[in-house]
Amino acid sequence: MRRCAAVLLVLTLVVPSSVFAADESTLVGYYPRSSQTEREWESKFRAIPDPANLRENMRRLSAHPHHVGSAYDKDNAEWILARFKEWGLDAHIETFNVLFPTPKVRVLEMVEPTKYTARLEEPAVAMDPTSNQKSEQLPTYNAYSPDGDVTAPLVFVNYGLPEDYEKLDRLGISVKGAIVIAKYYHSWRGVKPKVAAEHGAIGCLIYSEPEDDGYTRDVVFPQGPMRNSDGVQRGSVMDFASASPGDPLTPGVGATADAKRLSLKESKSLSKIPVLPISYGDAQPLLAALKGPMAPDEWRGTLPIPYHVGPGPAKVHLKLEFNWDIKPVNDIIAKIPGSIAPDEWIIRGNHHDAWVNGAEDPVSGTSPLLEEARALSLLLKQGWKPRRTIIYAAWDGEEPMLLGSTEWVEAHADELRQHAAVYINTDGNDRGLFEMAGSHSLEQFINGVARDIDDPETKMTVWQRQHLSQIANAKPDDRKELRQRADLRIDALGSGTDFTGFLDHLGIASLNLGYGGEDEQGIYHSVYDDFYWYTHFSDTDFVYGRALSQTIGTSVMRLADAEVLPYDFVDFADTMQKYTKDLEKLLADKQDEIRERNQEIDEGVFKATFDPRRPTVAPPKEDVAPHLNFAPMENVVEMLARSAKRYQKALSQRQSGLSEIQAETLRTLNAKLIDSERKLTNEDGLPRRPWYKHLLYAPGVYSGYGVKTVPGVREGIEEKRYPEAEQEIERVAKALEQESALIDSAAQLLEQAGP
Ligand SMILES: [Zn+2]
Repeated sequence: MRRCAAVLLVLTLVVPSSVFAADESTLVGYYPRSSQTEREWESKFRAIPDPANLRENMRRLSAHPHHVGSAYDKDNAEWILARFKEWGLDAHIETFNVLFPTPKVRVLEMVEPTKYTARLEEPAVAMDPTSNQKSEQLPTYNAYSPDGDVTAPLVFVNYGLPEDYEKLDRLGISVKGAIVIAKYYHSWRGVKPKVAAEHGAIGCLIYSEPEDDGYTRDVVFPQGPMRNSDGVQRGSVMDFASASPGDPLTPGVGATADAKRLSLKESKSLSKIPVLPISYGDAQPLLAALKGPMAPDEWRGTLPIPYHVGPGPAKVHLKLEFNWDIKPVNDIIAKIPGSIAPDEWIIRGNHHDAWVNGAEDPVSGTSPLLEEARALSLLLKQGWKPRRTIIYAAWDGEEPMLLGSTEWVEAHADELRQHAAVYINTDGNDRGLFEMAGSHSLEQFINGVARDIDDPETKMTVWQRQHLSQIANAKPDDRKELRQRADLRIDALGSGTDFTGFLDHLGIASLNLGYGGEDEQGIYHSVYDDFYWYTHFSDTDFVYGRALSQTIGTSVMRLADAEVLPYDFVDFADTMQKYTKDLEKLLADKQDEIRERNQEIDEGVFKATFDPRRPTVAPPKEDVAPHLNFAPMENVVEMLARSAKRYQKALSQRQSGLSEIQAETLRTLNAKLIDSERKLTNEDGLPRRPWYKHLLYAPGVYSGYGVKTVPGVREGIEEKRYPEAEQEIERVAKALEQESALIDSAAQLLEQAGP
């Protein structure tokens, strides 16, 4: 099998530490002696991060609410800057001016058949000392909802996904002119008002269902970690996936003081209808007042009420007004100049702003970032000299929709395109397994790092723990691959955090990393996400915070010091092969599904199952999806696999002679490698969303944070734009062909560089 050859090659190149002691293997992209030195510096680094500091950083940064434009957000930015400077790093604050609406009027009341006025309030809890900072807290709201004043019958729409509206069609229910109430989760929240508006709704409520993050899962806060009946999930509903993230008034350019700004009306990324998040305490009376058909089984939650769909008789009045202010966001940027290749940049970031106190989101990631920077500065004092430039960034304004990082990326686009090799992101951290996602050219690299990090709970490596846990949870068919493949597959990146501008807009290879999965949590974007909650219900002794510092710091150092940037294309090519097969299957499944439904309509299945007391509407017959020509992609992924193996072989053969390669050749080689992710972008961008330039990864227009791999083709098939899908196959194949040529030219450089 093709994979076996690749596995053998990988084993000769870098021996996994699970087989031999970690320090015996030569790191990819290093010649043996520098690999040894690197490993020594890395283990010195990993001894430094201290849980006591991580705890104190969190206490300080989450002591007050610190959303965009607040006094404590600014205070935190200055405090972070002072830390970077105290450690001797070259740091500054970079400020952008962005549109950030905050609530002025919030009214939600049921006017028929009974009266109920929603509380829209998260009360202070006696044992939680920061929950009472009322005057500093942002009220519960969804940012970038428009102003609005609407009164209409209510309809329950499950999670508010496109398929939920197909079900409503079958029930004969329209949301035209209605206000919908949707449950949180199963899509990014902004998708809910977007799809509702597309179906004619005039308002949208989103509530936290206890089945998803409340009492059904565990005890509620403050006795337990879950959302109580007053807890509300704030959050942005900016339509970033169909337009762009960042400041809605300056798409594509940095929101500097003198930037040209759109008017509010011209902005494409605001939500179309007013939308408000509510607690299940406020949702229950509204849902209980609905009549009409019972909701389908899988729509029902665990509130003690019958879940009806409506419409009405519950009628609600929703009135929202916002302060449409321009507010500053303060990014803190610290630079460690490279000693040999200062023009090649490794960038690492986590945001520092929160919706309220935000101990978990984001401070549990910001705090380890600071500890990494402190540890790196200690190494610098001991004589460590990174080959490449390292940039540490604490982003502001992530919560409203990646404002600080997107504006920074847009303002520095030209130099980033030229210099940025890799961006590593984290956004919070919890207890449990190491979760890896990112560009597949970094799959082998991050697997290598994971093999060198000890899991605090099991004392095995975090790679072993993740590997064994995947075996435990795998479908029988997938276990074989898990046991045979050298590397664990990493997830592709969608959006929802600060890597988006780097990866999707500029084509900079990116990773998003973190630990988690062991603790339930129901405090996301509420006032209860604070120091009390985190130190009672999450990584309470900060050993996973330390593991995160160790993991990311090791990654940054290893990327910054390698003679040859440790990209690998064998895993990448394998992933492209898999994606091609996945897309072919997606089309075949779609064809089968339509054929089957058409046949059932002909057979009278819908007539037979129709209950006249509970009338439903049969779906319409549909044309079966046409054949699409995948040959261009199939051919090119074969080519890609050959180029990838050639490069891997050339690097492994030259590995011991890397020190003799001329500096100029190394520079050319690394420039080619840096360019490898850019080759996967197209200047015209994705159909209807030109800001998104990466042809392989993008957030889904109808999933939001959830990734759509090969988005042009996949969304073309899913949304039945078949001619477009076929054109996109051509565009993707062309990009992969250029990628293959680039990898060949990199291989050739290595082949010719020495004996
Ligand atoms: Zn976050």
